[in-house]
Amino acid sequence: MDIPRIFNITESAHRIHNPFTPEKFATLGEALRLEPETRVLDLGSGSGEMLCTWARDYGISGTGIDMSQLFSEQAKLRAEQLGVADRVEFIHGDAAGYVADEKVGVAACVGATWIGGGVAGTIELLAKSLRTGGIILIGEPYWLRLPPSEEVAKGCGAGSISDFLMLPDLIASFGDLDYDVVEMVLANQDGWDRYEAAKWLTMRRWLEENPHDDFAKEVRAKLTSEPKRYAAHTREYLGWGVFAVMGR
Ligand code: SAH
Repeated sequence: MDIPRIFNITESAHRIHNPFTPEKFATLGEALRLEPETRVLDLGSGSGEMLCTWARDYGISGTGIDMSQLFSEQAKLRAEQLGVADRVEFIHGDAAGYVADEKVGVAACVGATWIGGGVAGTIELLAKSLRTGGIILIGEPYWLRLPPSEEVAKGCGAGSISDFLMLPDLIASFGDLDYDVVEMVLANQDGWDRYEAAKWLTMRRWLEENPHDDFAKEVRAKLTSEPKRYAAHTREYLGWGVFAVMGR
């Protein structure tokens, strides 16, 4: 079981697989006023940076589930590196339908809401693991500016304009689900650059090391087109943030 190989190639050097920076995760952890020993569940935990740094900085304990074998292994290594391997656990697997045995104080899905079939379904899934009074975290894109055409939306990696909302509408959508938005930390263009531009050097190095790989043609085409696509589309039109919500 694994995610499509292209992500394991382009994001192999990433610690954070979304437009957040280490500073943004620290800001989010502080904003949530995490108490030591809080249990955190993270569906689509990637290389584990959020759980590992929060375990180090705020004394939380956590479980992450991720479908990428590579990212899950990197998460375990990161936990050892930061000296928190006794507090965080990483499971390689499909997080769809995953419910924690023991209820958690924070249940998160940061940039992988397809796991629950969208924002509403993911909130419903996370709620099953949440203790009363707990906080749900959703990391999700939104439109900074509405794309003028479906073509531009596709250039941003969206299936269509309707895949994402403008920020006020995304915030209102949590209310429609009977949740209060109690905090939010938003990414910015520097964070987007770290996420997207870091893939380019990774692709270039990978191509140099794997010129005869079956994937070399695809990676070459991506490296050629990605910088311009990103600058013209994602960087201009797409926002991203983590929203902390609590049931009313
Ligand atoms: N939350 C992480 C990773 C976000 S990227 C971070 O902030 O860095 C999305 C992640 O979802 C990837 O790590 C990918 O491997 C994982 N993923 C995709 N489909 C999944 C599924 N069905 N179950 C678990 N993880 C999944």
